[in-house]
Amino acid sequence: MSIAPPIQSIVIVGGGTAGWMTAAAISHVLQGKVKITLVESDAIATVGVGEATIPPIILFNKLLGVDEVAFIKATQATFKLGIEFRNWTRQGHSYFHPFGQYGTRMGAAGFYQYWLRLNAAGLDDDLGDYSPCTMAARLGRFAMPEPDPRSVRSQMTYAFHFDASLYAKFLRGRAEASGVVRREGKVVDVNLREPDGFIESIRLDDGEVLGADFFIDCSGFRGLLIEGALKTGYEDWTHWLPANRAVAVPSTRVADPHPYTRATALEAGWQWGIPLQHRTGNGYVYSSEFISDDDAGTRLLGNLDGKPMADLNFLRFTTGRRKKTWNKNCLSLGLASGFIEPLESTSIHLIQAGITKLLLTFPDTAFAQPDIDNYNKLMQKEFERVRDFVCLHYHATERTDQPLWRMTGAMTVPDSLKEKMDLFRSRGRVYRYEDELFQEASWVAVLLGQGVIPQRADPITDIVPMDELQARLKHIKAMIRDGVERMPTHDQFIRANCQAPAWDS
Ligand SMILES: Cc1cc2nc3c(=O)[nH]c(=O)nc-3n(C[C@H](O)[C@H](O)[C@H](O)COP(=O)(O)OP(=O)(O)OC[C@H]3O[C@@H](n4cnc5c(N)ncnc54)[C@H](O)[C@@H]3O)c2cc1C
Repeated sequence: MSIAPPIQSIVIVGGGTAGWMTAAAISHVLQGKVKITLVESDAIATVGVGEATIPPIILFNKLLGVDEVAFIKATQATFKLGIEFRNWTRQGHSYFHPFGQYGTRMGAAGFYQYWLRLNAAGLDDDLGDYSPCTMAARLGRFAMPEPDPRSVRSQMTYAFHFDASLYAKFLRGRAEASGVVRREGKVVDVNLREPDGFIESIRLDDGEVLGADFFIDCSGFRGLLIEGALKTGYEDWTHWLPANRAVAVPSTRVADPHPYTRATALEAGWQWGIPLQHRTGNGYVYSSEFISDDDAGTRLLGNLDGKPMADLNFLRFTTGRRKKTWNKNCLSLGLASGFIEPLESTSIHLIQAGITKLLLTFPDTAFAQPDIDNYNKLMQKEFERVRDFVCLHYHATERTDQPLWRMTGAMTVPDSLKEKMDLFRSRGRVYRYEDELFQEASWVAVLLGQGVIPQRADPITDIVPMDELQARLKHIKAMIRDGVERMPTHDQFIRANCQAPAWDS
């Protein structure tokens, strides 16, 4: 039996966040054993957004051996403890989806189940009071997690907001230092091999032909290789997630940055606010069925706290996923592989998940089909679970004041989401699929926040006497408040530990 030769050359098409994350990660892991070329065109802009992340990015930084302070300074980053959702459930209402857990272990059921039981008996307080990340966000505080499990700080869980273009630049520096060669040029043609249709080479606008064993398509929404050349097909999820446009603009910093992302529901979608050290990122994600581009732009500008720092950046997208993330000798990552709108800041994570799975399924030149099929199955699940979680926000709403919200409130959701909602409505239980990205606490935060209330708490909580429960919760709440009040403000923390250089352009 002959063994297929190893991969000796990789071409990555695209130098946005996906391209440089991929280049930095695989060059770091493959340690110069494979020739990696990244092709990007200065004439084709990157999407220019993508500034909020979720906690697994810490693992990505660790994989790359990134110094966190250097990374924060280089990308003008701030810390993120969760997302504040305004006006999603009803006008004037807000809730917080924190990172990390609620409370502490109490018994057989999750902490929130005991809280549900007390609340049903009339306790009437906020589950957020039991989440260190929610409390720190409310009070504008931040501290690093501590290893001592008795400390409130041990439950601090964080991610970052950063400047997308500075992040790509930061990663580019690391990738080039690990031997990645950047080639400026526009891909104008893709040559397929006979008879199997694998990609043989790409041709650039200056006539150069670049061949490789393995191609990674990070060319953004256009999916130049995976769709343009290989016609892989796309699953459209617009019927579940109707937004298909966004308009973005940075604005001047007017206050100390808050340690969370803000997502405010508007008439035809929602607006993000992402505070960085040097500026604020803003955008309106909307459905073109319910508002024109001009009106969306005007609405966004009218809502800014600071002064706009650039022209409006209008973007169009179709929510969904490529039918196969990996097809023949071409893997797609980033927007080329699909897109779920940024409500829960999951796209950069999906790039990371795609890279991690690639490293666990690294091919040889035979491109074993069972491995590719398994990879595609895993990525499909990743996308579908994120889709369900984001869809929940649109569907579980009491809003009927605008056509968009009436439509999403009445829509038929994916069966997998319906099962989750039914289960929660019954006894407050959350079933997480194996390896599912969002933790129990995330589902609980959003389900309760969006007004999905269980008929009753898990019956196993009944074994704890009510007065004992009350005393324990009171104690936990006080401990968390006390621990959070001792933390520095988010701004003080940044100034003392990781302040970025003053920004002059
Ligand atoms: C409105 C909006 C908000 C978002 N917010 C978030 C967020 O908060 N958090 C998050 O995680 N994600 C977010 N995302 C997603 C995030 O922006 C992307 O996942 C991320 O930027 C990766 O983009 P990309 O690298 O795949 O594509 P792009 O940034 O579009 O890069 C494509 C690259 O391909 C190159 N290219 C294209 N065609 C050619 C060609 N013919 N020849 C040579 N080069 C070519 C371009 O030059 C460019 O370098 C958001 C996306 C949108 C649309």
